[in-house]
Amino acid sequence: MPFHPVIANEQVETSFGEVDYRLQRRRLLRDIARGVADRGEACEAHPELIRVARNAAPRMEERCPLCAENELRLVAFVFGPRLGPGGRCVVSDEELQRIARRQGDFVSYEVEVCAKCGWNHLLRRYPLH
Ligand SMILES: [Zn+2]
Repeated sequence: MPFHPVIANEQVETSFGEVDYRLQRRRLLRDIARGVADRGEACEAHPELIRVARNAAPRMEERCPLCAENELRLVAFVFGPRLGPGGRCVVSDEELQRIARRQGDFVSYEVEVCAKCGWNHLLRRYPLH
């Protein structure tokens, strides 16, 4: 599913373990190829996501599955106490570790983003400990 910080925030609960979204990703890409799913909708990225992907996020060494012209970037959104309703965008392991050491339950959402066509998809979400 495309990533929207607000939706993710509503779903925050930390009782789950890691959730992997690769299956949904494959299914969505297949549906787009068949014309069943809307490509425009899949590429409707949150502006913050694009901004971070373009400027700061690490490269994934993988091409965008839709436009194939751009290297995917990995963006992590972390939700939890005192990070605000939109979560915190985290692009470095050090910052992730710093948040993980704080008190409270935090959840990280990893999103792959193509800053060129806007393709974005959740890869996994997992509780930070
Ligand atoms: Zn792309």
